[in-house]
Amino acid sequence: PAALEAIDVTRTYTMEGVAVSALRGVDLRIEEGEFASIVGPSGSGKSTLMHLLGCLDRPTGGVLRVAGRNVSELSESELAELRNRRVGFVFQSFQLLARTSARDNVALPLVYRGVARGERRRRATEALTRVGLRHRLDHRPSQLSGGEQQRVAIARALVGDPRVVLADEPTGNLDTTTGHEVMDLLAHLNAEQGVAIVLVTHEPDIAARTRRQIHIRDGLIELDTGASS
Ligand code: ADP
Repeated sequence: PAALEAIDVTRTYTMEGVAVSALRGVDLRIEEGEFASIVGPSGSGKSTLMHLLGCLDRPTGGVLRVAGRNVSELSESELAELRNRRVGFVFQSFQLLARTSARDNVALPLVYRGVARGERRRRATEALTRVGLRHRLDHRPSQLSGGEQQRVAIARALVGDPRVVLADEPTGNLDTTTGHEVMDLLAHLNAEQGVAIVLVTHEPDIAARTRRQIHIRDGLIELDTGASS
């Protein structure tokens, strides 16, 4: 099956009796190993789509399949299990624990999976090595540059061996050079390890670095350079 598949997916939020349609019928298929960006104006539905693809939320209409499983047919705990096993998340603001070493930040997702401490440390060290931070294991976030902090966050996303990494504006808090270094790393991880990467960006130069660009506007995909027919 595709890594992610949306068929006529809608997501409507209702607040104080007023309905807002954030997604109005999205068809999208992300294959294993893809490298794609989602671009579009503010309010177009990008974050909503990322939350759905990451099993943080469910559609209000249509069908969403993650690794072939229809999320509407899963219980909350099954959905959480699918998210924990299949997906890694990267955020614009890194979202690292401030008083915690790089290695313990990276190991955190494994705590929720019941991995023993020694094994967590081993795997966190390996993930930090993969992102070029073998020499920063015991540093706290405040002792690291922005680019290094984002690489720690990428290592945390990878530590559980996900099939898909979802990154919401991963270069948004970085200067241009550092942002491109983070893109070099994501491109390398995609090519070497086959992990599918889907990122949201406002920056055309960043979007141009992915093989596929998905343009979204007013809750609909208006252009998809890699749509499989
Ligand atoms: P983007 O990420 O492209 O800026 P969003 O997915 O955040 O777009 O938002 C799409 C639309 O859905 C916007 O109109 C936004 O105001 C609305 N929206 C997003 N999240 C919520 C929410 N939790 N409750 C109500 N409306 C929301």
